[in-house]
Amino acid sequence: MKKRTKILATIGPASDSQEMIEALMRAGVNVFRLNFSHGTHEYHYEVLQRIREAEKKSGLFVGVLQDISGPKIRVGHLEEPFELETNDIIEFVKEEIVGSKVGEGSYRTCINQPTILKQLKVGEFIYLYDGMIRTEVVEVLAESAKVKVRNNGVLTSKKGVNFPNTRLGIDVLTPKDRVDMLWGIENDVDFMAISFVQDAQDMINARKIINDNNGRVQLFAKIEKFDAIQNIDAILEASDGLMVARGDLGIEVPYYEVPNLQKMLIQKANLAAKPVITATQMLLSMTHSERATRAEISDIANAVMDGTDAVMLSEESAVGNHPALAVRTMYETIRETERAYAYHRSYEQKHNDVTNAIDEAAVRLAQDLHVDGMLSMTASGSSARKIAKYRPKCTIYAITHDDRVRQQLTRSWGIVPVFSVRDSSFGRTISDVMKKGLDENILDIKSTYILTAGDPVGECGSTNTIRLLRESEMEFFKNLGNSCL
Ligand code: ATP
Ligand code: MG
Ligand code: MG
Repeated sequence: MKKRTKILATIGPASDSQEMIEALMRAGVNVFRLNFSHGTHEYHYEVLQRIREAEKKSGLFVGVLQDISGPKIRVGHLEEPFELETNDIIEFVKEEIVGSKVGEGSYRTCINQPTILKQLKVGEFIYLYDGMIRTEVVEVLAESAKVKVRNNGVLTSKKGVNFPNTRLGIDVLTPKDRVDMLWGIENDVDFMAISFVQDAQDMINARKIINDNNGRVQLFAKIEKFDAIQNIDAILEASDGLMVARGDLGIEVPYYEVPNLQKMLIQKANLAAKPVITATQMLLSMTHSERATRAEISDIANAVMDGTDAVMLSEESAVGNHPALAVRTMYETIRETERAYAYHRSYEQKHNDVTNAIDEAAVRLAQDLHVDGMLSMTASGSSARKIAKYRPKCTIYAITHDDRVRQQLTRSWGIVPVFSVRDSSFGRTISDVMKKGLDENILDIKSTYILTAGDPVGECGSTNTIRLLRESEMEFFKNLGNSCL
């Protein structure tokens, strides 16, 4: 059986070659993330072409997630990494400069939103690099602000800067983000992740950009702000999925609250049958080291058990020394953890929706009959996701008549998007599925499957049919001539 939890890997300088993209796909990546905080449109375009090429060569499907940077404040380019020690001083200046060491224990650099500097007050904290380096404001001058470093750490170019005590009041979709989103629509990315979402309106605004430009992109809300936690139900409603963006989240809220928040977010997304990605620092030590820490392996295992749809690699695959090994480590950890997975979930809720009742019954039947797979005929992808919500132990093969839907199912738990069939009558569709599935060796005539579908075919979210397919039924459908339908 294939692994059920999906893997996202960020592409960066360590992984942007054709060979490495192919190696990562073979190692188990389901979705590549293009982080628009880094790199130009030309750069990402090149990468995208390589991904498409790798798909053609391997016959595997991967999705592409475009991460929209949002108003992330970052340090500028540094001449060389700052090896910071406690009590060192960093001066943030207003003009754009290349950061450098200016004396013993003294550094100077800039940030990409310099107007914030004058809002700072002595005693406030500024966190650098996902909170790994803590600093405190010691002096605010007309042209700069000085901070004192509170712990040792290495700072490299373009790392994030957080101001947990300072109210920033900036729009989450910057002018750059709007241009980047148009790029994504034009280049047919499958998903976009919107950063620093505060409320549902941010997602509605992003959706409007997609709709106004006839895009077909699914929108993920990155949950990394205190406000997003407060407004989570409305945000989930307005999104196609969530990302638990633990890097910034762990700075916005006390770090020890992150595990419970992760569980809460995953539970809510599972219940809504919407995909959720757990991100940041999952295998951070593998950026440099060949071996992950025990704690990192446990972190992945816990996210899997929590019910996440996907786990994500950031610097591990973007700039790390061992991108393919990091993917492999995730893959193995997922595989082993899923041996003890809590399959066959039922939710203690009244079925207010007929489709939920049918989906749960189909999964229960699959379990009782020990079938080898479930076949979900899905127009929008939502029917397959609703089956996945009940976490069947067998693989869910999603069959659709729309290539974009097939791509978008790459990141949903347990779903293997297989092939598209043309949209026609129910009997002919099943016949097509049998022929194609058996021809391509995805289905096995000696196995047993449960097929769920909506009849008439092609209407979104209208599953109303459960069909058992054993050898005799498969033979029958396989041999159905067009004339009988
Ligand atoms: P975010 O807040 O969106 O997570 P980030 O800066 O933490 O932003 P990640 O993608 O999580 O970015 O981490 C990847 C790291 O790899 C970055 O911090 C950056 O230093 C480095 N990097 C350099 N070039 C790229 C690139 N083209 N794409 C992604 N990351 C890059
Ligand atoms: Mg972030
Ligand atoms: Mg990050």
